[in-house]
Amino acid sequence: MRVIVIGAGIAGAAAARGLRAQGHEVVVVESADGVGGRTRTVEVDGFRVDTGAIFVMGQYDRTLEFLRESGHATAMGRWPARTAVLADDGRLHRVRFDRPWTLLGLPQLRLGDRLRMAARIGRLVLTRGPGPFTLEELAVGDDGTTLSDWGRRTLGDRGYEYVLRPLMGPLTGADPDVISAGFARALMHQVTRTQLTVPAGGMGAIADWLLQDAGAEVRLSAPARSLAATDAGIVVGLDDETLEADGVVVATDVRTTTELLRPVLDPDLTVELERVTPIRTFHVLLGYHRDPWADVPYDLVVRAGSGRHHDYGVLRNARRAPGSAPPGGETVSVYLDTAQLAGRDPLEAARTAVADTFGPARADVERVFELEAGLIAPTPGHYRRMLALRDAMPDRIRLAGDFLTHSGIEGALRSGDRAAADLDALAAATSSASGVAAAPTTV
Ligand SMILES: Cc1cc2nc3c(=O)[nH]c(=O)nc-3n(C[C@H](O)[C@H](O)[C@H](O)COP(=O)(O)OP(=O)(O)OC[C@H]3O[C@@H](n4cnc5c(N)ncnc54)[C@H](O)[C@@H]3O)c2cc1C
Repeated sequence: MRVIVIGAGIAGAAAARGLRAQGHEVVVVESADGVGGRTRTVEVDGFRVDTGAIFVMGQYDRTLEFLRESGHATAMGRWPARTAVLADDGRLHRVRFDRPWTLLGLPQLRLGDRLRMAARIGRLVLTRGPGPFTLEELAVGDDGTTLSDWGRRTLGDRGYEYVLRPLMGPLTGADPDVISAGFARALMHQVTRTQLTVPAGGMGAIADWLLQDAGAEVRLSAPARSLAATDAGIVVGLDDETLEADGVVVATDVRTTTELLRPVLDPDLTVELERVTPIRTFHVLLGYHRDPWADVPYDLVVRAGSGRHHDYGVLRNARRAPGSAPPGGETVSVYLDTAQLAGRDPLEAARTAVADTFGPARADVERVFELEAGLIAPTPGHYRRMLALRDAMPDRIRLAGDFLTHSGIEGALRSGDRAAADLDALAAATSSASGVAAAPTTV
C-alpha cells in the first residue's frame, strides 16, 4: 500500500514508522522546515530551546518502549527533581513533582486534608483504572465530570488548590473548570510512576528517531493544501504537485485537519472536529549569556493556591536541559496561561513573571513561541466524541494527533500507531478480498 502521511510531528512520525514496519510505501509531507511539530528543538541566537514539549513521563509506556526498541533509551537523562518549588503568594515550598505525594507536606494543608488525600490517593494508586493515554480507556472515564468538580470532591478544596491544580495545570495547560476529569483521574492511578526524562540533545530528537527508524521519504516545507478521495484512492495537493496514494494519515493540528478534510467528510463528522477546543499557547524564552541567578537553588516554580495565575510555570533550563545555554549562561521559559493574559503583551507578562520569581535581570535574547492550537481543552465528552469520530472515518483516511487523546507525546504516538495499524489491516483485507498476497513495497 502507498500512504501519504501529512504532518511530521510525533503522531505522523509514529504512523510513518508503523506503516514502514509493515512494508508499506510512505511519503511524509511536512509544512515546516523541520520535523517534530510541537516537540521540536531549535536554536535561537546560540541558545537551544524545546519550543513545545519539555519532558517524557514515566507513565509513557509506548514512548519508552519505542526508545528501548530503537536503542535510544540510554540517550535519555533524568529531569532534575529536587530543585522545584511551589509558590503561593510569594511563599515558596520545595516539592518533588516526581513524587507528588510530597505535596502532602505543604503547610497550607490541615491534618484533615492530609488524611483525606492520603486515603483517596492511596485508594486510586492501589486500584487499577482506565489508562490515561488510550482513547478507548479515556472514553470510559469521560463521564461528564469536570476536573475541578472531581478534584474538589475527591481531595477537598485545599487538596485541589495545593496538590491537584499545580500538578495538572502544567500537564494540561487548560482551565480545570472546563476540561474533563478523565485524564487526571486515570493518571492518578499511576501517579507513583511520575519519573521525568529528556533526550540529551533536546526533545526534538524523538521525532527524528521515529523517522530515522521509519526510513520513510520526508518532504519538508511541503504543506498539504488539499485532499480528495477518488475511486482509485487519495489525492493530496501540494503547492506545485499532487501526490496519489491508496491511503492517507492526516496528522496535523486539529484546525488544519478540519480544513483539509472538510471537502471529503460527512458534515456530521466535520462538526465533531469543529467542536474540539484548541488552546492558544505562549511559551516565552528569555536567554542570558551570564546566569543572573547562579546562587538561586531552585529552577522551577509552579503557582499554587486559589485564584487565577498568569503562568503555569517559570523554568530555568540550563540544569534540566544541559547544553541549552552557552557555558555560564541560562535560559528561562515562561509558560503563560493564555486565558489570563487578557490582552496583555506576552513578552511583558513573561518579563514580569521572571522578575517576580527569580529577580530582575535584562535578557540578551527574547523570543515568543505562539501556537494557535498548542494544546487541547478536552471538554467533558471530548474523548467519547473523538472515539466515535475516529471509528467513523472513511477506511482510507486515518486521523492521528494529540487532539484525539491526551495532549502529549504519548497520546500522539499511540494515535499514530493506531492509524498505521488500521491502514495495514485495510491493506490486508483488500489483498485477501482480491486474492492477491500482500507484497511488501519499499520507497
Ligand atoms: C508549550 C507546550 C509544552 C508542552 N509540554 C509537553 C511535555 O512536556 N510533554 C508532553 O508529552 N507533551 C507536551 N506538550 C504537548 C506535545 O507537544 C504535543 O502533544 C505533541 O507534540 C503533539 O504531536 P502531534 O504530532 O499530535 O502534533 P504536532 O506536533 O502539532 O504535529 C503536527 C505537524 O503537522 C504539520 N502540519 C500542519 N499543517 C500541515 C500541512 N498543511 N501540511 C503538512 N504538514 C502540516 C505541523 O508543522 C506539525 O509538524 C506541550 C505542548 C506545548 C505547546
